[in-house]
Amino acid sequence: MSSWRKILAESITDPADLPPSFKVDRQALSKVTSTYPMRINPYFLKLIKQPFDPIWRQAVPDQLELTDRVCQEDPLDEENLSRVPNLIHKYPDRALFLVNSNCAMYCRFCTRKRKVGTERLQVTTNTLQTAFAYLARTPAIRDVLVSGGDPLLLEDDRLEWILTELRRIPSIEIIRIGSRVPCTLPMRVTTRLVKMLKKFHPLYINTHFNHPNEITPEAAKACSRLANAGIPLGCQTVLLKGVNNDPQIIKNLMNKLLLIRVKPYYIFQGDMTKGTDHFRTPINQGLEIMRSLIGHTSGLAVPRFAIDLPGGFGKVPILPEYQEEEGAGLWNFHNYKGQYCSYLDPA
Ligand SMILES: *Cc1c(COP(=O)(O)O)cnc(C)c1O
Ligand code: SF4
Repeated sequence: MSSWRKILAESITDPADLPPSFKVDRQALSKVTSTYPMRINPYFLKLIKQPFDPIWRQAVPDQLELTDRVCQEDPLDEENLSRVPNLIHKYPDRALFLVNSNCAMYCRFCTRKRKVGTERLQVTTNTLQTAFAYLARTPAIRDVLVSGGDPLLLEDDRLEWILTELRRIPSIEIIRIGSRVPCTLPMRVTTRLVKMLKKFHPLYINTHFNHPNEITPEAAKACSRLANAGIPLGCQTVLLKGVNNDPQIIKNLMNKLLLIRVKPYYIFQGDMTKGTDHFRTPINQGLEIMRSLIGHTSGLAVPRFAIDLPGGFGKVPILPEYQEEEGAGLWNFHNYKGQYCSYLDPA
């Protein structure tokens, strides 16, 4: 058995099996995990340094998941936007394709918490083939986001088959894989996997790191292998209370991502997903974090801050304002230091 499979097989899935040093109400947490599954693999578990630290909060269930009275099961209206199962077609030229139901770790804040890792998300050869047929008869879709669950938890052969089928559809120009594996189980990124992936260019991978403590030598090695195969790497970070809702932590994370050749792509405002209300942060805090990045550090380290609007209305950027038009082509700006300056439009 190769080591990533062994590590995954040794995951804790029952709160009763959490380390004895974890002072938690195991019985109360098992109520949580009967609704929302838990999986903490030994690699990610080792990143926890103390109770309720940013790694703990992402991985260990919390009773607050069951007391959320504000959020909704499917805030992005994904079920209604799926004309065939597991294929969400919301935007004109791209689609989100769920190819696997499980992950290397079940993030407590997952936006697809209603179904990831449960029997409510069923991926079969039949759902995959139905989706290929939809993509083939919908040539407007030129960019397919392969997601789940985590696509990189599939066996190499299975994923290769999916990518081959997608590449047989001439209207698909770009394939993107969304995977948290480089962060949560980096040893899954084997040389064999990478050799297979590089046959499907242009292939992009968007991964998901939320805290600088996740950037380990193992994660760096996984990203290096992918980048060396010519796969551009992006990161989609989510703002999470008690994890990363702090300008210094985010700046540090963004800079560390660049060192492992991952380009920060999005910072997301937390979705209104049922069971995650305790993670949400105010929009103004996200704006403050963006102001702390813009101008203060490399432009490469500044992603787009966006909200995926409830009801399936899509992603919208949330921008700090730096300009106002006074009139007659006169624009007033302030820079990152708060200094004022004006600019005159051409006559
Ligand atoms: C996020 C998302 C996309 C991709 O959006 P980009 O802004 O192009 O990264 C596509 N489809 C769905 C349903 C999405 O949620
Ligand atoms: S890896 Fe992604 S899909 Fe899986 S539980 Fe975490 S956020 Fe959800």
